[in-house]
Parts: sequence; C-alpha cells; structure tokens
Amino acid sequence: MFKHDFFGNKSERSHVQYRGRFAPSPSGHLHFGSLIAALGSYLQAKHQRGKWLVRIEDIDKPREQLGADKSILSTLEAYGLYWDEQVLYQSQQSDLYDAVIAELLNQRMSYYCQCTRAQIKAIGGIYQGHCKHLNLSPDGSALRLINHHPIGQFSDKVQGEVLVNAALSGEDFIIHRRDGLYAYQLAVVIDDIYQGITEVVRGCDLLEPTARQITLYKTLAQPQPDYAHLPLAVTEQGYKLSKQNAAPAIDKTHPQPALISALTFLGQQPDPALVDASVEQIIGWAIDHWQLDKVPQRREISL
Ligand code: GLU
Ligand code: ZN
Repeated sequence: MFKHDFFGNKSERSHVQYRGRFAPSPSGHLHFGSLIAALGSYLQAKHQRGKWLVRIEDIDKPREQLGADKSILSTLEAYGLYWDEQVLYQSQQSDLYDAVIAELLNQRMSYYCQCTRAQIKAIGGIYQGHCKHLNLSPDGSALRLINHHPIGQFSDKVQGEVLVNAALSGEDFIIHRRDGLYAYQLAVVIDDIYQGITEVVRGCDLLEPTARQITLYKTLAQPQPDYAHLPLAVTEQGYKLSKQNAAPAIDKTHPQPALISALTFLGQQPDPALVDASVEQIIGWAIDHWQLDKVPQRREISL
C-alpha cells in the first residue's frame, strides 16, 4: 500500500548515501533568511558528496503566492544551487498522506477531536486528550495523534542538546486539520521519509517542532534523520526575516554579494579574492571549505 514501507520496516541506514533537502513554502520570493537555509543545507550535502533535493511545501493553499515556486527555483539556479532529482510538490502527495492517516486510524493511533482553540486555551493551552475516548465522527473534526513518544530533548549538530517544553511536545497534536489541511508536522515527516532524507538542515525557527516530528518517526517506526538547525537571520528589531514581514528579495542578477554575506553569516570565512569571482567559483570554494562546526548557534544582522 505504501510506496515506502511505513510502519515498522526500518531501512538499513549504514551504507545509505547522504540525502539532504531544502523545503521552502511558496508563500513569497527567496529572501536572505531562506537563502541561509538553502545554502547551508546545500553545502552540508555537497561537501559530503551527497544529494540535495528541493521540495515545494505547497499544502497551505491560502498562504501560497502564485508563481512563488518558480521564482524560488529560478533564484536557486541563479545562486548556483542546483538540485538533484525531481522537485517534489507536497500538493501531489495527498494520496500518501491519506494512506498514512488511514493506517494511523486503523491502528488506533489517532482520534477525532472537536475542541476549539478557545476551549484549549481556557484549560491552559495544552490539549489534555478530552476527545480521546469519545469516538467522534470525522465531520468538522481535527485528527489528533495519540502521543506515545513524548520528546523532551534531542541532539542537534549545531544547537547541541536541545530541551523542549515537554508538556507541549508531549500532547496529542493535530495531524489533519478541521479545515482539511494536512498539518505541517505530518507532511514534512512523511515526505522526508518518502525522499529518504538522512539529515535535515534548516532554520532555527523549526527547532521546537522537531520534537513532534521525532514523535512521528517513532510512531511510524522509522529511523529519524540527523538534525542541524542554522541560526536565524533576524532584523535589528529582533524579528525573524520572513516572507510574512516582507523581507526584501535577494538580487537575482548579481548574486555574488549575497552569497558572500550568507557564507559569512554561516561562520565560514570566504576568501577575500572571491569578491570578484563567478557564482560557480564561490560555490565551488564553499563546497570544498564547508565546516558545519564553524556555524554559530545565533547571529544578528542589521539590514
Ligand atoms: N516549509 C517550511 C518553511 O518554509 C520548512 C520546512 C522544513 O524545512 O522542515 O518554513
Ligand atoms: Zn478534543
């Protein structure tokens, strides 16, 4: 039934080639913050002669901006970040998500819930399993995972030992929303398994959600990938640079300065001679000299 044997068939990892990925949501153009995630994940893969895949996370239609996927992909190319294999679109993956959801229901690892956000807020903001034994119908319900694997701590290659709010990461969280959208946690884990991703390199904004993702790997009895969460590019006011706060698009016609800044941001020390180099030369240098242990945990930039 599953293209990949979800549930219980652990694949051998030891001889598996490195597979990394960049997974942008097409809610806007590529900005400096997303360039950091793209470049960091690319270099970490290519330094190890691994594969680097691109996945467009277009499951949240209301937040999507028309044409943003094409704009992101052409910007990656302009920056010399060429991906391996075919770009995967999450909007094409519904059958797989549905199959996993059906199996979770079948194995009684999930249940329908009709609690409202306000109701959960009123009891302190953490869901307490109110609907677990109510056998509610799917209509107008969200689907929650029964959390048998609460994660309070995990290791990250950049952030070290990460402690997360155990109550929050241990709750029965939503995997399929009331409005019909698949939860990010579910889609990202299913697709990382589907694409055979061995290591996830992305921005620190996704550090906390990692705990729930590990819960999902454990529930599906799949080996979890390694994690490396890169420092976030924040504005002087301390805001995360994002498409939502209209961070400026990076220059597509003259990528060299942004590439050099991104390398510096990631703690690498680009050769001063690279200022006049081509994009290919900068990327070539960066692949050869990439050192993950030079990447700082936090970093501030001013715009
Ligand atoms: N699509 C998510 C974002 O753009 C990233 C998902 C991930 O890297 O796990 O924030
Ligand atoms: Zn409920």
